[in-house]
Amino acid sequence: MKRQEAAKKFSLAEMAREQIARAARVMELPADLLTILNCPKRVLTVSLPIERDDGSISCFTGFRCQYNNMRGPTKGGVRIHPDVTEDEVIALAAWMTWKCALVDLPYGGAKGGIICDPTKLSEKELERLIRRYTTEIMPLLGPHQDIPAPDVFTTSKEMAWMMDTFSMFKGYTEPSVVTGKPEVLGGSPIRKEATGRGVAIVTRQLFEKLGWSLKGARAAIQGFGNVGSFTALFLSEMGVKIVAVSDVYGGYADDRGFKIPELMAYAEKHGSLRGWPGERIERDEILYQDVDLLVPAALENQLHAGNAARIRARAIVEGANGPTTPEADEVLEKRGIHVVPDILANSGGVIVSHLEWVQALSGLLWEREETISRLERRLVRSFDAVWKKAQEKRVSLRTAAYIVALERVVETYRYRGLFP
Ligand code: NAD
Repeated sequence: MKRQEAAKKFSLAEMAREQIARAARVMELPADLLTILNCPKRVLTVSLPIERDDGSISCFTGFRCQYNNMRGPTKGGVRIHPDVTEDEVIALAAWMTWKCALVDLPYGGAKGGIICDPTKLSEKELERLIRRYTTEIMPLLGPHQDIPAPDVFTTSKEMAWMMDTFSMFKGYTEPSVVTGKPEVLGGSPIRKEATGRGVAIVTRQLFEKLGWSLKGARAAIQGFGNVGSFTALFLSEMGVKIVAVSDVYGGYADDRGFKIPELMAYAEKHGSLRGWPGERIERDEILYQDVDLLVPAALENQLHAGNAARIRARAIVEGANGPTTPEADEVLEKRGIHVVPDILANSGGVIVSHLEWVQALSGLLWEREETISRLERRLVRSFDAVWKKAQEKRVSLRTAAYIVALERVVETYRYRGLFP
């Protein structure tokens, strides 16, 4: 699976820094503070030799970046993908820092990655890889240090192995060291759907502010994994017609609107949408559909200088992390296309992860409805803060989101000072 080649000028870490720089200019943030905020606190590179089922040895490389922990323990997913790079992990850890600050969680940001195509490993090989990775990054991990979660190609299964490995070394069971665990191990009943549910809630808030109706609005969704599929499900429950979907293998269109539970059942059974008996479109044509809403929910760098002029959607709500380059942002803004940035739009996952962590630390359990309502309240509050900031400063929603996040992080430096 080769990533789409984007006409990009920025590396991902540069892209994250550029987004911050734009907000910093509006805030007139002192250059010294920006220097600190642009430095990842720690990046650990580990080698991961594992025994294959045939007795041979393969050695993979993994990373864990703790970007900034001024607001609390660092939080962020672990992704497994053949194209993972250190630069990408640093960018994703930076975005986690700003995301947690934006939605006002007591966390810093982190991210992990393993360079590997997990579809080429057996279940046992994958387990050995995850356990070895957990062991190698153990010095960084802990409920008050750094708390991993699922991301691309990791799920509750991998989180259970990470929690078990950590617990075995400690000699006691420590459920609060990861989130996104299976429910039986203290996972949240809504963690799996949380990011997609959040994307749908944020879309609803945007449409409400713009005076647009969700009923009958047309949407295209790129990526039909965890985020894409649940976004499609909740949007369709709100009355949105999902007229195009795609995954890494291709795209499909249905002008009447897909029945999302059927698509989800198909993807669950076959591992992807490949072979869906419907109208085919080219994979990347998903981005250029004539729709009210486009949700990129696959990977970063999808909307770039080379294709931003071709986007026909009236609004973009970013399910994926980093799908839009700063150059594309400028084009989209000039064209009057509303973009709800990733750090707001896909924050539902970390919001529910926080609830799971609090539950594990306190030993209390919340009902499903209580969790949904806490997610909803935090997202609406965060959306309103970003909307208000955008109006006040006359900036895009992305720059407004960064301003809200930066203000919170900078405030911690004012009180804590610079050590030593
Ligand atoms: P996933 O692995 O479950 O799904 C990814 C989907 O994207 C798959 O359907 C895959 O086939 C598809 N895809 C990959 N390349 C593609 C391409 N070129 N064109 C079209 N489709 C393509 O991953 P996920 O957890 O849904 O994560 C998706 C994005 O959302 C990532 O950027 C991730 O960092 C971000 N994110 C995830 C969460 C979460 O809770 N899972 C939270 C916040 C952000």
